[in-house]
Amino acid sequence: EPVMSLKDVSHVYVNDKGASLALENIHLDIAPGEFVSLVGPSGCGKTTLLSLLAGLFPPTLGSVTVGGRSVQGPSPAVGYMLQQDFLFPWRTIRDNAAIGLEIAGRRNEKTMAAVDHWLGELGLEGNGGRYPHELSGGMRQRVALARTLVTEPDVLLLDEPFSALDLHIKLQLEDLVQHTLARLGKTAVLVTHDLAEAAAMSDRVIVLGKGPGHIRREVSIAEPIR
Ligand code: ADP
Ligand code: ADP
Repeated sequence: EPVMSLKDVSHVYVNDKGASLALENIHLDIAPGEFVSLVGPSGCGKTTLLSLLAGLFPPTLGSVTVGGRSVQGPSPAVGYMLQQDFLFPWRTIRDNAAIGLEIAGRRNEKTMAAVDHWLGELGLEGNGGRYPHELSGGMRQRVALARTLVTEPDVLLLDEPFSALDLHIKLQLEDLVQHTLARLGKTAVLVTHDLAEAAAMSDRVIVLGKGPGHIRREVSIAEPIR
């Protein structure tokens, strides 16, 4: 039973300039615990595909399921890590990491213990009382990961979370994210322009092509690191 599934999915954007076919006839099943990367040229539909999994809008045609249920809109079952960290500058790191819990009405002593646990696990021990501007870019992305993990999402969608970082920080963080998600057995989809990053982190790389967006090929990574 796949955790995420797209069946016969096509998506058309309609605006004042007309209609454009962004994705055509996509079939994709993602197994529990699998880490899948989406790569391909700009405009091939990577963000559209991720948005459909996130429930930001329904596909024009076809069905999208997460956790065996048809996606009906955004849900706390889906966690995110994006290129920008979206930390609030006036909140401490600890309070930033707790914001998803607050929105879900789940901030309490037990879940705050989980916040402290994850800040520690991700190398941010002692930083809970600091503010975002006091942290480096790599540290801030680790706060963003902690903020997602404490809400215990079923799946993670990663939209170029490393692309704004310096190379050595980027490699460190790829490693940390890959090992952390593998250890938790989390299912994840990563959108990236970086084929080396996709190959290093994934069990499977989906190469999308343009005109309109379609799956050109799928490459299984022979010996996943997990
Ligand atoms: P990628 O993430 O691979 O760069 P996108 O999913 O952003 O690709 O875009 C796929 C196609 O859909 C592109 O041709 C893009 O121009 C078009 N597109 C994306 N968003 C919109 C929108 N809101 N309105 C109209 N066309 C869009
Ligand atoms: P990372 O982003 O993975 O923490 P860096 O090389 O950016 O790696 O930072 C190494 C250490 O230097 C960090 O753990 C942090 O303590 C400190 N540091 C880096 N940048 C800043 C900054 N802008 N403000 C405060 N401390 C910083």
